[in-house]
Amino acid sequence: MPASGWIEVDELYCKGCELCVTACPKEVIALDMDRLTPKGYHPAHLAAEGCTGCGICAVVCPDAALTVYRHVTQRKQPSSLVH
Ligand code: SF4
Ligand code: SF4
Repeated sequence: MPASGWIEVDELYCKGCELCVTACPKEVIALDMDRLTPKGYHPAHLAAEGCTGCGICAVVCPDAALTVYRHVTQRKQPSSLVH
């Protein structure tokens, strides 16, 4: 199963600079033209499926507005180790 994740954007900090949009290797971030932040910017949001949770967007965001979450699949214990 390919890695999957999602992002949350803190609209108090996002200033719509689009650095995350450009940096995302899966091209799943876009500015949300239907919304304005309290400061009057169009905020980034997840616009498509396919986020891998790689974290690149959070690294490039100059305002620490992005949090990345990643789905974790728990590996099954080998049966010999189950008591
Ligand atoms: S975590 Fe990676 S794949 Fe997901 S939105 Fe950010 S840069 Fe794109
Ligand atoms: S890099 Fe950060 S501030 Fe810029 S659009 Fe993305 S979330 Fe907003």
